[in-house]
Amino acid sequence: MTDEENKHLILADGALVKEVIIKEIRPCIVAEGMVRVLMQLDSPLDTVIPILMVTYPPGKVNYLKNKNILTLSLFDRLITIYPSGKVSMNKTIDEEDALETLTKIMNDINQAHLHQSHTDTSEQQDAQERLSNMGPLDLYHCLPQTGCGDCGEATCTAFAMKLLAGDTTLDRCTPLKEPEHSNKLRCLEKLLGKPLMATLGWNSG
Ligand code: SF4
Repeated sequence: MTDEENKHLILADGALVKEVIIKEIRPCIVAEGMVRVLMQLDSPLDTVIPILMVTYPPGKVNYLKNKNILTLSLFDRLITIYPSGKVSMNKTIDEEDALETLTKIMNDINQAHLHQSHTDTSEQQDAQERLSNMGPLDLYHCLPQTGCGDCGEATCTAFAMKLLAGDTTLDRCTPLKEPEHSNKLRCLEKLLGKPLMATLGWNSG
């Protein structure tokens, strides 16, 4: 089939990416019976990738800074996004499954692109550095450390680990909203900054 025949219009109103061409479908080498799909989006992603990466929890992200290549561990598969607009996706059922999952990623890309125009580049680089250097203990030090279990975890350490893995959200720690723990909230704001607070699920409203 030609590229024209493999082209799909996904988001007609997308701010950056609207269409994708399915370039190749091969057997997946890590999951028997599944496929690896190579796709090409209709716009380069070089400037949006650094913005996009901080919209996902650290545990879901692997970022090769020198090549500006982002791999996401989402939807029980690996999705690799290249500056050229190429996207590869493993552990996929079929073409329909690939397009359904890609639609969610394309929405995120378009949101990041819109955000890009009013994002300070140095602030963004700063957020990236913090993201790549952060461990559960850093977060733990800024949690109330009461072990109250309100977040659904037995300990604050377990909560910090799940938070970095993207398996829970920061606003589940309800003591953080109490005045007596405002120092901890300030500690988190200093450690993470507002973009990463939002990435980890903090709703300040
Ligand atoms: S709700 Fe917050 S303070 Fe309570 S155990 Fe969870 S992380 Fe710790």
